[in-house]
Amino acid sequence: MIDVIIGKEGTQKFPINNPRVSRQHAKITVSDSGLWTLEDLNSTNGTYIIDDDDELVQIKKINITEFTRIVLADQTSMGFTFYAHHILEDDPLNYRTEFQHVLRIHDKAIKEKMELDAQKQKKNMMRFMPGIVSAVIGLVLTLFLPFNQKVYGLAVTAVFTAILQALINIYLSKDTKLKNFNAKYSNKLICPCCSKPLTEMEFKNQMCCKCQAHA
Ligand SMILES: [Zn+2]
Repeated sequence: MIDVIIGKEGTQKFPINNPRVSRQHAKITVSDSGLWTLEDLNSTNGTYIIDDDDELVQIKKINITEFTRIVLADQTSMGFTFYAHHILEDDPLNYRTEFQHVLRIHDKAIKEKMELDAQKQKKNMMRFMPGIVSAVIGLVLTLFLPFNQKVYGLAVTAVFTAILQALINIYLSKDTKLKNFNAKYSNKLICPCCSKPLTEMEFKNQMCCKCQAHA
């Protein structure tokens, strides 16, 4: 069993100098069966986790995972943020495991993005529809309307095409899936050490260029 007191005077191996963090702020326990627990030790500014929806949630005592992001003190960026896993590192500067975790999220995001793009490409095929439909209607009307009414056929086709075009444009402009995608990943693809959003280049190099944390 591992039992680590987190705080300015805690037993964790990494230093915490944040003035808003209590001396003994929270406790992380890892049971022999691998169950992780986080408990607030009546800290002055509270203990929070960032949940799957990127919401900051204040906790008293809660089961967590190795890769739960913990925020000591505060709901602002003034707090001290770290992955629970970091208590296992002997070298405080080693962010390899956490970086690999972020890389896995990144790979998942890339796959989802590719699926979204494929779906979008299919949807974009609909842009051809008004043209095709109006050609068919125009042809049918021209063939079957009596000669003196063919002009109405043209008018009907034009109006119908315009309406269809407008509806399809409205449909295609509503890209909620992309919005959801961005909301889901924007706060997760960040450096596990300094919380800087990571660029594609940094993912490719598997290293944060600001703090040098790497996989
Ligand atoms: Zn960094």
